[in-house]
Amino acid sequence: MLYQEADRVAFYGGASRRDSDVAGHFQSYNPSNDEPICRIAISSHRTIDHAVLAAQAAFPSWSATPPVERARILQRAVALLRERNDQLARVETLDTGKPFSETSTVDIVTGADVLEYFANLVASGGLNGESFRLRPTAMVYTSKEPLGVCVGIGAWNYPIQIALWKSAPCLAAGNCMVYKPSEFTPLHAEYLANIYKEAGLPPGVFNVVYGAGDVGAYLTSHPLVAKVSFTGQVSTGKKVAGTAGGGMKYVTAELGGKSPLIVMPDADLERAVDVAMMANFFSTGQVCTNGTRVFVPREMTESFERALLEKMQYVRAGDLFDAATNFGPLNSREHWKKVTEYVRYGIETDKARLLCGGTDAPAELPAELRKGYWVRPTVFADCTDDMRIVKEEIFGPVMSILPYAGVDEAVTRANTTHLGLAAGVVGRDVGQCHSTVSRLEAGITWINTWGESPAEMAVGGWKQSGVGVENGRRGLDAWVRNKSTLVELESSTATVFSKL
Ligand code: NAD
Repeated sequence: MLYQEADRVAFYGGASRRDSDVAGHFQSYNPSNDEPICRIAISSHRTIDHAVLAAQAAFPSWSATPPVERARILQRAVALLRERNDQLARVETLDTGKPFSETSTVDIVTGADVLEYFANLVASGGLNGESFRLRPTAMVYTSKEPLGVCVGIGAWNYPIQIALWKSAPCLAAGNCMVYKPSEFTPLHAEYLANIYKEAGLPPGVFNVVYGAGDVGAYLTSHPLVAKVSFTGQVSTGKKVAGTAGGGMKYVTAELGGKSPLIVMPDADLERAVDVAMMANFFSTGQVCTNGTRVFVPREMTESFERALLEKMQYVRAGDLFDAATNFGPLNSREHWKKVTEYVRYGIETDKARLLCGGTDAPAELPAELRKGYWVRPTVFADCTDDMRIVKEEIFGPVMSILPYAGVDEAVTRANTTHLGLAAGVVGRDVGQCHSTVSRLEAGITWINTWGESPAEMAVGGWKQSGVGVENGRRGLDAWVRNKSTLVELESSTATVFSKL
């Protein structure tokens, strides 16, 4: 059955705008069956300028609105997001290919939670500065000032969640935003813009433009933009950070990873397998923090593999709206090609042992889904650190099992990467887990679990996995600049220019 969405055009100054000089169109597809869903107008430079100017025009009034009033508007948007959870989840499922069982319980929920968190934070003094007496006759006070027009550029794996993780602290802090969704998953953006509008957000505070890398690059170099918050690949992040840095803009970059999961020698086998599966197959492996390098004590590998194979039968591909389905297709044809090439490389060139999976679509798929971008969850065993499938981010459901001899060795090998997004440890002795996790070079770490990222928890990568953090109290600081004021209380002051 063909599902169609209305054409998308840029949204700025509080309304959708069908500009006459669009820079072409692109098409979005349903990843589960390759059917077209929606045609999107690529924003021309003139349209992008209009969106930036709309944001700039809205800034003086929005930034002067008391935080508690801004929070009230954002809270209304939270209520609308929750009220429309299933409708939005349906859209996200059609756009991303993630099962409804996932989008309806994670994507909008975690986005709305973050919006609620930042609304509450600014309403309860999160933007307060500090003051101190410098000497009896002088004091200093500081304030947290919004930056101005900010840009949000999203990846395709968590579209509405990324849009909310960026816009929530941005708007709560008093900034205005021009947001560009990924060209692969653009549908959520207009829904979100309309929810903000309905909640009472003034025109121009949140704007949307569409397009691929050239639109992102134009936004990043725009002279009226004060900050760029980017989520995507390391290679793109470097370009964005370079351009933004060249213009002395603030930048936050949430990038890719190749994260290690260390199964400790005392780990409960069932638990270790559950965590490893969450760290590799949730969202069909299209999660930036995926724990794709699974270090297992050499003497435990056989039993780990057996228990893993046993549980793999519970990965269920199929109709995305069937409540039992927990594994969807990859997001796009391009991405499907990339992932299947990695799997082929792992088999033919790296010569890793294929424990399960491969390049075919899951056998249980019904005929009407055979044209979608499906792969099977794949596990390679007996992997070594020099294999390409172990070194590079695949961003798909591909797990590598790496046997190790001792925990020190596992930690050293886990850290031997230029990436540092996430890491995790599974073990019974939590003290040992703490000391092991403390030696892992990553910005987001878990013990005996994987993947949960609540609003209160600041997240961001180390090394080449990113710059700055999102969420938590520190996440708000990424959207403000500091102003310090020294007040002299003495009525008359002597200076070097005073009369001698
Ligand atoms: P990508 O880098 O290809 O694209 C991301 C966004 O950048 C898209 O909107 C794209 O249009 C835009 N873009 C492309 N070139 C640009 C340029 N020169 N200037 C400005 N913008 C440009 O990434 P992707 O394939 O969409 O996303 C997958 C990647 O994102 C993975 O590496 C994943 O690990 C990462 N990711 C990281 C996090 C995190 O929080 N660390 C979260 C989700 C995804």
